[in-house]
Amino acid sequence: MRVMAQVAMVMNLDKCIGCHTCSVTCKQTWTNREGTEYVWFNNVETKPGIGYPKHYEDQERWRGGWVLDDRGRLKLRSGGKVKRLLGLFANPDLPSIDDYYEPITYDYDTLITAPAGRDTPVIRPKSALTGKDTAIKWGANWEDDLGGAAEHAAGDPNIAAMPKQAADKVRFEFERTFMFHLPRICEHCLNPACVSACPSGAMYKRAEDGIVLVDQNRCRGWRMCVSACPYKKVYVNHNTGKAEKCTFCFPRIEAGQPTVCAETCVGRLRYIGMVLYDADAVTAAASVPDPQDLLEAQRNLFLDPADPAVVSAALSAGVPRDWIDAAQRSPVYELAIRHKVALPLHPEYRTVPMVWYIPPLSPVLDAVSEMDGDNADPDQVFHGITQLRIPMEYLASLFAAGDTEVVAGVLMKLSAMRGYMRARTLDGTVAEELLAATGMSSMDMERLYRLLAVAKYDERYVIPPAHRETAAELAELGTGCSLDVPGGPGMGRVLLPLSVLPIKRNGEP
Ligand code: SF4
Ligand code: SF4
Repeated sequence: MRVMAQVAMVMNLDKCIGCHTCSVTCKQTWTNREGTEYVWFNNVETKPGIGYPKHYEDQERWRGGWVLDDRGRLKLRSGGKVKRLLGLFANPDLPSIDDYYEPITYDYDTLITAPAGRDTPVIRPKSALTGKDTAIKWGANWEDDLGGAAEHAAGDPNIAAMPKQAADKVRFEFERTFMFHLPRICEHCLNPACVSACPSGAMYKRAEDGIVLVDQNRCRGWRMCVSACPYKKVYVNHNTGKAEKCTFCFPRIEAGQPTVCAETCVGRLRYIGMVLYDADAVTAAASVPDPQDLLEAQRNLFLDPADPAVVSAALSAGVPRDWIDAAQRSPVYELAIRHKVALPLHPEYRTVPMVWYIPPLSPVLDAVSEMDGDNADPDQVFHGITQLRIPMEYLASLFAAGDTEVVAGVLMKLSAMRGYMRARTLDGTVAEELLAATGMSSMDMERLYRLLAVAKYDERYVIPPAHRETAAELAELGTGCSLDVPGGPGMGRVLLPLSVLPIKRNGEP
């Protein structure tokens, strides 16, 4: 057993109101620069929908993540080393700017300098890339609140994976079915495809906390990481030709502070904590043959931070004592492992993602209300959970490699917790039947309720600061990752001809 520490995140999707504050604050912090106009390290998608970039979940198209070879060993879906090297200059699995969207600005000067006249001056949208007039046809958030999504629903890869009858129902009764928001950042995977695909060794996973970064000094702009990432969370800065990605706000994490997206989240739905895992077991966990076994295999990677044997192994491996203490109070461990209500996004990509999600109960509650049921009655909600195939199959495609029982189990726990607390608070009774139905104890219910409903800042973010003794090493790593400003270390000369950058339209040479 080789114990390592990982900083990880859980998001509670029931609380996301799709306000995009997280995206905007992240952009202001990290990608408000030339070359990254189209880049959103944090984006919020409306589901069902095709997302950003378009259809990123369709790995038949983009060939991201890992698959098993004939002998059951992991290999990048994008191909082995030889194939990737042969494709260096003609990589067909790369989204174009049209798959993201053409970033726009406005000709604000016209507003300020227009001569006095009878008509109000009008400003036209201009491409932020070419400066020319442009028509706005798509955006990172085009499907917001299902706006325009009815037109594109058929293209959602999760719907394509559903049985035909259910898929047709989602397509044709789209706005009546369900919707929710899905905020996404880099998953800082334990088995990152981006790192394995990088021919320059520029992408790396920090040993001390597992944050995945790009060394700007080593990146040669081959873009293999963009193709290999199944979540499409590596981007190319078209000014520098180098890869950039979510940094998990590592300077803040080192200071014991949450990421900017978490700090500013209006719904207070993000949780950040340390988890301990067995690094020797990652490859085996990512290689289990049946995709529906991946969730349990990934859960089993996490070590119980209260187990004296784990504590001793962690100390021997150099994990600082206060990091182990933090792991023992980790809201991520609590939600993902102790209560098993958080699930990884697309575990079948086999990258072992470290941003997990509590699936939304609201589609089920809405459906129960629509049937004139009482969505506060656990019996009716339980019934709804077992009957409502469509949201269940859709959520299972996102979070459990299609296993609806896993999602139903989580939603039952969440629903039971509401019923249990309602009975306790309003009637002063203990709903024993809910404890029996979910296999949870009273203490489990109270702990889960506390975390999901009333947890304060210090309970949602349990982040031990970086250690002074590792500061020099961290500073050195930080220099390589700086994305800060034009002229900074990451903003050097373009190393590749413009023709091989992704900033071109589909079909253009
Ligand atoms: S989600 Fe992040 S760590 Fe995982 S493969 Fe993509 S870029 Fe790499
Ligand atoms: S700030 Fe929070 S609530 Fe708002 S969109 Fe982002 S994740 Fe959702």
